[in-house]
Amino acid sequence: MKVLKFGGTSVGTVESLRNVKMIVEACDTPVVVVVSALGGLTDRLIATAAKAAAGDESYRSDVDAMARRHFDIIDTLVPQNLREKVTDTISDLFDSLRRNYDGVFLLRDLPRKTLDVIVSFGERMSSVIVTAIVDGAVRFDSLDFIKTEKWYSKNIADKKLTEQLIGKVFKDFSGIAIVPGFISTDRDTHDITNLGRGGSDFTAALIAAALDASLLEIWTDVDGFMSADPRIIPEARVLPRMTFIESMELCNFGAKVIYPPTIYPVFHKNIPIKILNTFNPEAPGTLICEKSADSTEDIKGVTALKGTSVFRLHSSVPDDFHSRALNAMARCGVTVFIVNSSDDGLSLSFAVADADAAAADENLRKEFAPELADGSVTVERHPGELATVAVVGDGMEKRLRFAPRVLNTLLRDGIEVVTYSRQPSATTLSFVIPLEKVDRALRLIHNLAF
Ligand code: ADP
Ligand code: ASP
Ligand code: MG
Repeated sequence: MKVLKFGGTSVGTVESLRNVKMIVEACDTPVVVVVSALGGLTDRLIATAAKAAAGDESYRSDVDAMARRHFDIIDTLVPQNLREKVTDTISDLFDSLRRNYDGVFLLRDLPRKTLDVIVSFGERMSSVIVTAIVDGAVRFDSLDFIKTEKWYSKNIADKKLTEQLIGKVFKDFSGIAIVPGFISTDRDTHDITNLGRGGSDFTAALIAAALDASLLEIWTDVDGFMSADPRIIPEARVLPRMTFIESMELCNFGAKVIYPPTIYPVFHKNIPIKILNTFNPEAPGTLICEKSADSTEDIKGVTALKGTSVFRLHSSVPDDFHSRALNAMARCGVTVFIVNSSDDGLSLSFAVADADAAAADENLRKEFAPELADGSVTVERHPGELATVAVVGDGMEKRLRFAPRVLNTLLRDGIEVVTYSRQPSATTLSFVIPLEKVDRALRLIHNLAF
């Protein structure tokens, strides 16, 4: 059994949906197909909500335009015998969406819960349409079986409950199942939630893992996982193979091909992932599995994570302030990367995502309140906007000369390196640099590595 996931661009237009139909109908059954919202729709749903909250009445014409886009696709692609029913279902969903926007407009307020309901309409509608287009397909509603729980301010997947529910729902299924990606419900309140932007990949991985699928296929708009983002480095090349760990590192450091949490559940079950192009289905794509091919020590790619913050702590005594700082971050759910300490043990620096910087700052100040008051510890955040650039490939720690070469190349080009991983991990070498130099740095490192 295979699980296929089609991203927004793959379900964005009449032409792309024709390819989806062809690809899915050619599969052996049973097959589970996870679909995103029509390309760009989630951004549009969010922007329209912001307009309504700001009292801008043009939100109404935005909704009309979104509706027209869906009805045009239905009129062109849904078979005659199903068209009226599908049109009615989508009309009802748009009525409900309009009521949500009207509420936001009247109250001039956009609570998180309401936004979660609003964005859920994208996948709820695309999945209805794709089900009607693909011969013999049956729709399954992920709101019934993808469950989240609260973790600090985030909603995260309740993997255990989700796995049980998926097992039950698909127990005797043998045909073509269409499932909306991204959306979920809270296991306790049953409120509509989601798995985060780009989360349809994760929906597909949770299903693949729960059903012990033989393969997870991620269908998108490029020929495979590439050595860099092709929008920044046009000469980036498609990689035929990489390991789970390599893909995880590349995605954690910003490669947008796969949503980062996706890889773990399938890695854990050793289910390979294939990245394939909906617009060029003949292309071999990229196979992600446990072992790379023959030349395992090739560099696989270079990527950047925009929005990085660096914290530096100094202490007058070495003591246990490193572990206290890092434990304080773990306790507030902040992921820390590139941790460096000085040889004398008196200073520590580490990077976090900008989104976590406020929580990191607050919790460091709480943890070290007495020491900050008597001046024995200082905490500073590096000024200016920063980004992390990462180079990934198995065996990185053995390429002893590579890190100095990258550093020299950047410095020679006048790019300041704020901090870097002094002990590269087995797979990744990472550098924090000023945000405005990211594209230049990616190009320089890509030239050096490929
Ligand atoms: P989807 O809508 O299918 O989920 P995404 O936009 O999330 O598609 O991801 C695919 C896009 O990721 C590509 O169009 C490409 O521009 C971008 N991308 C970034 N880094 C890479 C990379 N290393 N390899 C391939 N694509 C990349
Ligand atoms: N539609 C959602 C988004 O745009 C989820 C996804 O496409 O994976 O983030
Ligand atoms: Mg995506």
